[in-house]
Amino acid sequence: MAGQQYSTGVKRYIKQGEQAVAALQRQRDTMRGKRFDTIAVHGLYGAEGALANQGSIIEPAYFSSAQHFENSDQMEAALAYLIPSWAYSRIANPTLHYLEETLALLEGYGFAGETSALVTASGMAAVFMATNPFLEGAGPANIVASSKCYGGTFMLFSERYGRERGIEVRWVCNPLDLEEWSAAIDDNTRFVFGEMPTNPALAVFDIAAVAELAHRHGIPLLVDSTLATPALTRPLCHGADVVIHSVSKSMTSSGFAIGGALISRCDIPSRVGPPELRADFASYVKLLPFRDHGPCMSPFNALMALNDLRSLRSKMDQLSCSTMRVAEFLAEHPRVEQVGYPGLEDDPGYLVASRYMHLVDSDEGGEPLNRYGHLLSFCVAGGAQAARKVLDRLQLIMRATDLGRIKSIATIPVISTHQQQGEEGCDLAGIPANLIRLCVGGEHPDDIIADLAQALDF
Ligand SMILES: *Cc1c(COP(=O)(O)O)cnc(C)c1O
Repeated sequence: MAGQQYSTGVKRYIKQGEQAVAALQRQRDTMRGKRFDTIAVHGLYGAEGALANQGSIIEPAYFSSAQHFENSDQMEAALAYLIPSWAYSRIANPTLHYLEETLALLEGYGFAGETSALVTASGMAAVFMATNPFLEGAGPANIVASSKCYGGTFMLFSERYGRERGIEVRWVCNPLDLEEWSAAIDDNTRFVFGEMPTNPALAVFDIAAVAELAHRHGIPLLVDSTLATPALTRPLCHGADVVIHSVSKSMTSSGFAIGGALISRCDIPSRVGPPELRADFASYVKLLPFRDHGPCMSPFNALMALNDLRSLRSKMDQLSCSTMRVAEFLAEHPRVEQVGYPGLEDDPGYLVASRYMHLVDSDEGGEPLNRYGHLLSFCVAGGAQAARKVLDRLQLIMRATDLGRIKSIATIPVISTHQQQGEEGCDLAGIPANLIRLCVGGEHPDDIIADLAQALDF
């Protein structure tokens, strides 16, 4: 087929390449039989990989910009993507490959089909690379997305896609309302996008039901699962087609690296694009549009991310438990008007969140344990000024526009992460001026609660 036009030398490399691809697939199949923690610790880098890398038990960081080829035949086969190779670090890199394979396995844990992953320079690069390929082609186009989403995503959709490119953005204001999703989707919709849970409102949506709505129209559902991480929710198991992560956040709590990822299942629906886009979206994006746009991750960041991922499950368990205690404290506090945390029984998202957010591999004793992540928000009585006062009085909890850290961090979204979208945009996203977003870290919850108690006592 594709090999016919190639010389005997190139064909020999293609043959070797096929064997290497088969070996890689066997490695994936072996790891798919392992438990979540084992995958998080090893990914695809096992004893064999170590022996090929001076025996190093930790994945090596390949900082080299490019790969040296044995000869022109190998170079030709590599650049035609006919053999496993990396060629140039914007296209691929061995250290990034280890991270991509680990993420594909973790996000695909418990999912029957194959998954593939692409890592990017940042979470926003992942949101862009996961959505832009669906906007190609002539004719009217619209996108349907939850208005309760990360500020950068809101701006990408409303400004870059909407205002600059004339794509109609149809916001779903109450993501729990299936009627609202259903009414917004039509024959010109290119994709449906939701965040679960959302930053900073902590809203949730019914992934399976919205996936079904999208599939009925032959379009994909994309889910930003940054806050849940695969340790708590794996949207592909519930019908989502592409999962997006800011690897900068809950996945990599040490805060040493910015990064993003998109993970897809095979054979996704789409109204546009070549067959390769539908067959294996993440690989298609990696080999074609991503190569041209160029937002690649640094190998250093990939190694930092891999290292943080190894303890993802136990970390999300501990942080979720602490966050529940902090949420309960805040819910009882007279100075707090409202707490947004889907783990609280009176939260509007509680029932849906309880269906989707479980600690992975916690079902050995029967029912799986519900865990709701480590982000919460609360509204301070007394308006914007009172919220600023509380934020300014914090002593242990850091004031920063960040989340997912092992250190507790708080911010006021309307003056930080969501400032650019303005008052109207914040109203649309359901973010009042007195809302403080708190990401609970690994400190003892008593100390976090004590800091909040003194900050609220003015
Ligand atoms: C931070 C964040 C992003 C963007 O990620 P960066 O790595 O900062 O570019 C996307 N989605 C969510 C939910 C986020 O919290």
